[in-house]
Amino acid sequence: MNYQDYFKTALDDLREQGNYRVFAELERHCGSFPRATSRGEKNGDVTIWCSNDYLGMGQHPSVLNAMHEALDRCGAGAGGTRNISGTTHDHVLLEAELADLHGKEAALLFTSGYVSNWAALGTLAGRIPDCIVLSDALNHASMIEGIRQSKADRLIWAHNDLADLEAKLAALPLERPKLIAFESVYSMDGDIAPIKDICDLADKYNAMTYLDEVHAVGLYGPRGGGIAEREGLMDRLTVIEGTLGKAFGVMGGYIAASAELCDFVRSFASGFIFTTAIPPAVAAGAAASIRHLKTSDVERQVQQEKVTDVRARLDAIGIPHVENPSHIIPVMVGDPHKCKFISDTLLKEHGIYIQPINYPTVPKGTERLRITPSPVHSAADVDALIGALEDLWAQCQLARMPLAAQ
Ligand SMILES: *Cc1c(COP(=O)(O)O)cnc(C)c1O
Repeated sequence: MNYQDYFKTALDDLREQGNYRVFAELERHCGSFPRATSRGEKNGDVTIWCSNDYLGMGQHPSVLNAMHEALDRCGAGAGGTRNISGTTHDHVLLEAELADLHGKEAALLFTSGYVSNWAALGTLAGRIPDCIVLSDALNHASMIEGIRQSKADRLIWAHNDLADLEAKLAALPLERPKLIAFESVYSMDGDIAPIKDICDLADKYNAMTYLDEVHAVGLYGPRGGGIAEREGLMDRLTVIEGTLGKAFGVMGGYIAASAELCDFVRSFASGFIFTTAIPPAVAAGAAASIRHLKTSDVERQVQQEKVTDVRARLDAIGIPHVENPSHIIPVMVGDPHKCKFISDTLLKEHGIYIQPINYPTVPKGTERLRITPSPVHSAADVDALIGALEDLWAQCQLARMPLAAQ
């Protein structure tokens, strides 16, 4: 086999389909985010409209101070796996902060949210004898990989469809171990799961629940504990999983659950045991971010105002976006080439960066621009965004919503 030819052909296929991924090379400017310098084809200042640093915590003074302090106190890396010299005081404090955030007995840190899903689901579903996983059809790749890794039986239930979930649960023996895996805020459509109803079904059919709150932690609930906190449901979930890399603005992932469950995953998960612990400065920064958002609501409030404002402005110019109850605004384009063209032009001509979201992240025909307004976007930023989108929609002859529907 000619290996290089094989790689090249596979990449050419991707390009032809409009699904080849190109990095936007950015230099974020601390203190003036969402501003950054684009170092790619287009050199110059850009405004980022697609970041998962949802609240701008990645440049928050409390986070930076905690990280500087820990870096000077402890040095750069953790120096080992958690079991072999890598458990620092900052890791322990962060796990306590996370357990408290979710009202759970314990929490367990991982190097990322991806790894936390992969390792925790892989271990729980793989080790509990005869466990079957009931997985929402739109679950994130990290959950799917974890479930696959577990080799446990799995059933995919239609997205957020309680009737389908119940039909599948009811067909299983009551005593068979079951794990229902789902998300609160789904990242591409921005819709929210009926958590209470799912917990009711879990109780009725004797199932555990595993909730990915990656796009909700820091953002919802009086202390930023997520949708389950907002709805008073945290104690009903077996496992709450989250990231430190999105609204908390740093990096890392975790689960929060009972002491026994966390100890079980700690003791059996390869993806927890055999990897270097996150740097103490990262742990200290994440803990500072969580602590700040437990008591400060202003970031969440201003974010929601910005989201409402951008939605209203899109409606006013008839640009179709998915209505949902979250902070994520998917603007539908429905064609991978057009989606990429709009994104490229926004960057080159308007200094606006919104990554095109194409297959396989979303189904073909639902290509979109995923806009994430934050409290650090100004009114002038919103004006510039709306003006640019209005121009481009005319240029690309994309459908607008009928005015009567507005
Ligand atoms: C981003 C994401 C993850 C992974 O979190 P990272 O900390 O970025 O690895 C997990 N689940 C969902 C739903 C995500 O969108």
